Parts: sequence; C-alpha cells; structure tokens
Amino acid sequence: MMGYSGSLITFSGHFFLWYLVKKNALLFITFIVLKNQLMLKIEHIGIAVKNLEESNELFAKLLGKPHYKTEIVASEGVSTSFFKTGPNKIELLEAQHEESPIARFIQKRGEGVHHIAFAVEDIREEMKRLEKEGFILLNKEPKFGADNKLVCFLHPKSSNGVLIELCQERED
Ligand code: ZN
Repeated sequence: MMGYSGSLITFSGHFFLWYLVKKNALLFITFIVLKNQLMLKIEHIGIAVKNLEESNELFAKLLGKPHYKTEIVASEGVSTSFFKTGPNKIELLEAQHEESPIARFIQKRGEGVHHIAFAVEDIREEMKRLEKEGFILLNKEPKFGADNKLVCFLHPKSSNGVLIELCQERED
C-alpha cells in the first residue's frame, strides 16, 4: 500500500515536472515566433485614382459603406481616403499636383493598385533586414505617412514590380 501511494506521488511529481517543462517550452516557442514575426499583416492596399470624390462614391457602392476618414499627406502631395472591410483597409490616393508620385504613376500606368502596405512591429529593424536582403529602400529614414503611421517604401523594381510600403503605428 505504501509503495503504491509512493509511486503515485513520484508519478504526480514527474507529471508536474513534465507539465512545467511543457508549459515553459510553449511560452518560449510563442516568444520566438512572436519575436520573429516580421511582417504582421497586410495593413492596407493603396489605389491610385484620378478623382477622389468620384472614387469615394464608387468604393462606397462597391463595399456597401462610405469611407471613414480622409487625410492630406502634404509631403507626398496626396489626398487620401480610407475604407474598411472587416479587418482590411483600402486607401484611395489622389494627386494634389503634377509632381506628386501619384500623378506620375497615373500618367505612366493609369489608375489602379498602387502599393501594398504591410504592418511591421519595428520599422527600422525591418528596413535594415530588407536592405540586407537586397530590397531598395526609397527612403533611408522612416517618414510620416497617412493614418498616424511611420512609413518606408521599397522600390518596385526590387519586388517584382510591386511598390511595397512598410508601416508602423506611431506612438506619440
Ligand atoms: Zn499606403
């Protein structure tokens, strides 16, 4: 009888140890996975349009609800509006003047998908990593973008013709 309860105690002791190891291993793996999570998600898709007002109406019809905000990014020479569909965002971009990258894009390629933006945890770390991987950064320092973000663009010629935006939520 003694032996039986003794081995039961030993067994539950082993079980407890195993449980602790497993729990910590899981925590450790979660930590590693989260730490290595570089691109968190697609933050939004940017679409170049000729006339923001008209496109706001068009996209409101398409998505069944109006845009939730507009914003001018003077440094890029663009007026923007944002739509939400579930967890996803669409950014419409209209050039404010002829020198705007959006005006040049539309002249060359017409209206359409302009960029894909990825949310990142640490934009400076990602810029360093991607530059090392051979991507061409269009700005060497993160700059202020629409929607309270720090942003950096990657040249489309280094990413199969797709302009990539990295964005990190600003904390101030
Ligand atoms: Zn964008």
